[in-house]
Amino acid sequence: MKYPYLETEFNENLDKQVVKIINQYWKIENRTFLYSPTKLRNKFGITQPRLNSIVKNNSKTKLFLDECVECEKPIIIPVTSQSTAKNKIENPDFICSDCRSKLNRAP
Ligand SMILES: [Zn+2]
Repeated sequence: MKYPYLETEFNENLDKQVVKIINQYWKIENRTFLYSPTKLRNKFGITQPRLNSIVKNNSKTKLFLDECVECEKPIIIPVTSQSTAKNKIENPDFICSDCRSKLNRAP
């Protein structure tokens, strides 16, 4: 799969509507989120705190940012909001946390 991409794990027994909101919330194309929080709030008639809690309390999402330049494994970052994910995509790490700590330990 082409980086960056997101993988979402859903809690069990969720309402269809909740799954739909979460799926749209994390939908990304060409490094851009397709549905901004404002768009989703208007579309589903919910408040921002409600949107945040729907996303955070019912799912876990990981951002697969890129391949590590050292070990070529994917750089995976847990994210809880579009803004944290966006920030990582716009200011990406090129090295995974394992390699970073190895480099930091090197003399
Ligand atoms: Zn690495």
